[in-house]
Amino acid sequence: MGNDFKEEDIFNLEYLIIPGVDIDSSQRAKQMSQQIHKHAFWSAGLHPHEADTFHEIKDELSKLMKEADLIGETGLDYYRNLSPREQQIESLQFHLQVAHEMNKPIILHCRDSFSDMYDLLSSSTKSNKIILHSWTGGNNWTKKFVELDCYFSISGIVTYSTAHDLHQSVKHIPTDRLLLETDVPYLAPEPYKGMKNIPSNIMYTAQKLSELLSISPKELSDITIANTNKLMEK
Ligand SMILES: [Zn+2]
Repeated sequence: MGNDFKEEDIFNLEYLIIPGVDIDSSQRAKQMSQQIHKHAFWSAGLHPHEADTFHEIKDELSKLMKEADLIGETGLDYYRNLSPREQQIESLQFHLQVAHEMNKPIILHCRDSFSDMYDLLSSSTKSNKIILHSWTGGNNWTKKFVELDCYFSISGIVTYSTAHDLHQSVKHIPTDRLLLETDVPYLAPEPYKGMKNIPSNIMYTAQKLSELLSISPKELSDITIANTNKLMEK
């Protein structure tokens, strides 16, 4: 999830992961994780949209990564292509290397880039704890990334009536690899689709995902809390 929210917006959360997507937001994620009255982890990373700034900020980013609980958000976005693909890949490979060396989980954004992401992750000999954030893959890609032992973080997209492929593919994710997220301030779940998202809206996403998986929201909550504990253990 992003880091644009207030204390009262997190009343129903046990844990938060507050990500950075550049230097400023990574620093803000760190501050917020220390200020809020909940157990919060934070991450330092460079979003693929900003990958063209990678060389300028690499040293400063490296320092933040040493302190952070997680690495990312990084990844590949071939939908918008706001930075050249070669630079997205270079930045992603750097994040993967650091995450491996520091044994920290890494948050990956993957939009219209499943094939390159799969090739990059599967050809790497490094063992990383990988979180595929706001997962939208259909059955085939989900099964392939399950083989790579990734965690799949499900956002408000799962509540949209148009997300037919995702409604099927979430059933192929092992329960010990499921996570929930909001991607605040984006991707507000139904019934707030199109509005500014807040972390407490996660309950609508949890409600829908638990229906799809034929379990109760409480069971899903227990599962995702246990998975977060497992993911974050050193
Ligand atoms: Zn993203």
